[in-house]
Amino acid sequence: MDVFAVPGLPEVRPGDDLAALIESRADLRDDDVLLVASTVVSKAEGRRADLDDFPAGPRAKEIAERLADISGEEKDPRFAQAVLEESTEIIMEAPFLLTATKFGHVGVNAGIDRSNVGDGGADLLLLPERPSESADRIRRNLSADPAVVVTDTSGRPFRHGQRGVAIGWSGIPASRDWRGETDRDGHELEVTVEAVVDELAAAANLVTGEGDDGLPVAVVRDWEFGNHEGSDNLYRDVDGDFVRQALRGWEFARD
Ligand code: GDP
Ligand code: MN
Ligand code: MN
Repeated sequence: MDVFAVPGLPEVRPGDDLAALIESRADLRDDDVLLVASTVVSKAEGRRADLDDFPAGPRAKEIAERLADISGEEKDPRFAQAVLEESTEIIMEAPFLLTATKFGHVGVNAGIDRSNVGDGGADLLLLPERPSESADRIRRNLSADPAVVVTDTSGRPFRHGQRGVAIGWSGIPASRDWRGETDRDGHELEVTVEAVVDELAAAANLVTGEGDDGLPVAVVRDWEFGNHEGSDNLYRDVDGDFVRQALRGWEFARD
């Protein structure tokens, strides 16, 4: 397969038609996968916000104080308030805020960005409200019919370093299911469900970068999903998420 970034995209503004911006710079094909950084989806959807939009309540003040105490740096309680308002559950409060967003993604600070926020003097960029709907909308506005994946950069438990993940998708299942197929020894695979949208997002992140490259969109060409069952079950239910359950009862303590 080929992975390449779409060149020449401008600074994205609220109300911009991302599909039109992309299509005028890339000849898309129906069997491509188009990967769009959540940053520009959020910008187009007007998800820039100011810290002043989030007057801090008691909980946010408490969290900010605790985080400031731990880090020895000042923490803005309005930022903690923004994270709380974007989240359905606080999974860890310290030494950093790990929360579940309304659409199911678990991330540090609810995925709110303070870099590449764009002009206009805003402080924050919130994630798209419903990224799979965003992907769907972009797809419908294109004249070709590629799969569309909205990505974000995210940290990983157990491992240093960040990589791209999918937070929304349209026109492609999130996973391909290898269960019931056999390995080279003839053993039946029992648990392997491959999160292909995350793998594609990680590949896209290799060419879009994290800084000032100005390359928020990538195309994966000549990759095939293959003959597998698909599934859209990317976000674990709390019931089946034992790590999340364990973290609920865990308290950060410094010795
Ligand atoms: P995130 O991973 O979705 O949080 O986005 P990043 O902040 O890592 O940015 C991904 C890529 O998009 C980088 O190459 C940025 O320079 C680029 N980028 C961010 N915003 C814009 C924009 O409005 N226009 C253009 N052309 N590039 C942007
Ligand atoms: Mn981000
Ligand atoms: Mn990124």
